[in-house]
Amino acid sequence: MKDAIRDAYSILRGVTPLPNGLDCGKLCAKRCCRGADDEGMELFCGEEKRFENDPQFRIREQDGRKILICGGQCDRRSRPLACRMYPFYPVPVETDRGIGIRVVYDLRGFATCPIVHDRIRPDARFVQAVRLAGAYLARDAENRRIMQQTGALFDELASFTQAVGETE
Ligand code: SF4
Ligand code: SF4
Repeated sequence: MKDAIRDAYSILRGVTPLPNGLDCGKLCAKRCCRGADDEGMELFCGEEKRFENDPQFRIREQDGRKILICGGQCDRRSRPLACRMYPFYPVPVETDRGIGIRVVYDLRGFATCPIVHDRIRPDARFVQAVRLAGAYLARDAENRRIMQQTGALFDELASFTQAVGETE
């Protein structure tokens, strides 16, 4: 499992959601790094070891989930997988040939992230990297469960965001 985490980090190195490595933080002054103090990013199983001795972060347990809390600033090289893939997310889907990965907008960012809200088309290399990282992670049952649960949350949010769209 440790190797899958390491491989996911490696795959996501050097890609960004916008073409040519453009910094999407300039669209919004890095709004996704400015959550409340107790908000954080869910860690994948095995990922927590990378942060145990890093003073930039602390880990909070919630309903059996491990949540990484940051101070809103980090050395980008150490940010977690959730931040590397945001504002997209890999959702496992059953196919005739086994588990496939659907890369979707992270609808938790609908109100804050311009890429999600305006459905800005992501760079194809980034989508491919998220898909591949998701495929590595999905080989572990616990991580597959985390991704499926998050995908189910997006399904719930989809009806809400659609309703928001209809009132505009
Ligand atoms: S992911 Fe979205 S909210 Fe975060 S910096 Fe990029 S555009 Fe802004
Ligand atoms: S870990 Fe870094 S990239 Fe992720 S939300 Fe915190 S400051 Fe932003």
